[in-house]
Amino acid sequence: MMHENPIKRRPSRRIYVGNVPIGDGAPIAVQSMTNTETTDVEATVRQVQAIAAAGADIVRVSVPTMDAAEAFKFIKQQSPVPLVADIHFDYRIALKVAEYGVDCLRINPGNIGNEQRIRAVVDAARDRNIPIRIGVNGGSLEKDLQEKYGEPTPAALVESAMRHVDILDRLNFQDFKVSVKASDVFLAVDSYRLLAKQIEQPLHLGITEAGGLRSGSVKSSIGLGMLLAEGIGDTLRISLAADPVEEVKVGFDILKSLRIRSRGINFIACPSCSRQEFDVINTVNALEQRLEDVTTAMDVSIIGCVVNGPGEALIAEIGLAGAKNKSGFYIGGERQKERLDNKDLVDQLERHIRARVKQLEAEQIPVKQA
Ligand code: SF4
Repeated sequence: MMHENPIKRRPSRRIYVGNVPIGDGAPIAVQSMTNTETTDVEATVRQVQAIAAAGADIVRVSVPTMDAAEAFKFIKQQSPVPLVADIHFDYRIALKVAEYGVDCLRINPGNIGNEQRIRAVVDAARDRNIPIRIGVNGGSLEKDLQEKYGEPTPAALVESAMRHVDILDRLNFQDFKVSVKASDVFLAVDSYRLLAKQIEQPLHLGITEAGGLRSGSVKSSIGLGMLLAEGIGDTLRISLAADPVEEVKVGFDILKSLRIRSRGINFIACPSCSRQEFDVINTVNALEQRLEDVTTAMDVSIIGCVVNGPGEALIAEIGLAGAKNKSGFYIGGERQKERLDNKDLVDQLERHIRARVKQLEAEQIPVKQA
């Protein structure tokens, strides 16, 4: 039996980004962002498709110019998932992408300009059921708040966010979500904790400019892990100086680790040692690569010897417990008569895992994963 998942989600208002629900207990949506030139429609569509194929629920596209807004029209037509347009300052761009069917506007109302412009954007969003994301960033705090607080602090970030929230409130617009990102884990975590108490809207989590693939993943996992474990967060984006597809994979790995949301195969593997009866590391790496296309959630345990092998195999869908020449093999927690030849494990395991996935999908057996 799996240890119980103790997470209680913070209650929040439901919004929809296209057809993707955010908040009020909806599955935590995983997002990423394109890093192509938005005006290069072909390259951007290709990247949106790759990010979506990795499992992203939503993709954000930067729209810095009117030319990019025109390109957005065609990108939107070809996108398999809802798109968020990232806009800074220029309200005309927001109106344009709204016309072209954008699913969410990432724009801070306080930065749009005069009241008339703010109203124009909010009215366009309201008319078309487009939610807004308010995004505050520790690195771009308003000057007066920097002076008031001396440095970016959780109170400063939240005060900045609340200025934008208050504008939407005043215009009676409630379909928004908010992020208060920072590159420092504690600053981000405390800002989100503070904000979570002040508004009822969903929160978009992220540790901004987290770093490269490895260090950024670790930093994001720690920051988002703390928040998610407390039930805070309704959608997330991992910001890495890496391929956006990696951001999606890391996002799902974080959710998988906390048993909040699962997708694809969750490998349980030992680090291996001199007791191993087959090459654990290469077997697991090869299987991870070969089975990237699997979306059905499933635990697979690959353990190098009988010390932990049988125990882990009992609580996985497919399990392997290393033994001399031929290893012990388990399906659905049951030991099979057939043992797998250690010389050819990757091919045999791939075959068995795919067969089990098919069977689970056909029978819709609740898989051994929370
Ligand atoms: S399970 Fe066996 S092979 Fe794997 S690390 Fe432990 S003792 Fe070593």
